[in-house]
Amino acid sequence: MSFKNRVLTKSLFVFHAACSPCNNCDIEILDALTPRFDLERFGVQLVGSPRHADVLLVTGAVNKKVVHRIKKLYEQVAKPCFVLAIGGCACSEILFKDSYNTCGPVDKIIPVDVYVPGCPPKPEAIISGILKLIDRLNKKG
Ligand code: SF4
Repeated sequence: MSFKNRVLTKSLFVFHAACSPCNNCDIEILDALTPRFDLERFGVQLVGSPRHADVLLVTGAVNKKVVHRIKKLYEQVAKPCFVLAIGGCACSEILFKDSYNTCGPVDKIIPVDVYVPGCPPKPEAIISGILKLIDRLNKKG
């Protein structure tokens, strides 16, 4: 395994990007980080700037107002950058499909590595999504 991937599997820095969600998915992300679910035990740390992040946690169906912002965020994250689409809106727009102001699910705007469906997904599902990414990095070597 390369040194870079080995470090990433032990300390992923995540940035939370909310693209017009209803906020339930965001609350579940925060739940996953609380001591009860303790996502940090896997070395996952929430950071306040995309420039410090390895992973983008994206929630919500991307609307016309935020589409350029999510593109900009993705450009700002150091590469390799991984993207988790959290919730049904981010994965497939569910309720907002064909709405007049949405630009499509997240994977139409930026590449997505892991999908975490659910409305909202439980903290366990979010943790499972992160572990899927870590597992992929481990296999990549
Ligand atoms: S998936 Fe459900 S909970 Fe999450 S932002 Fe969309 S409507 Fe809200």
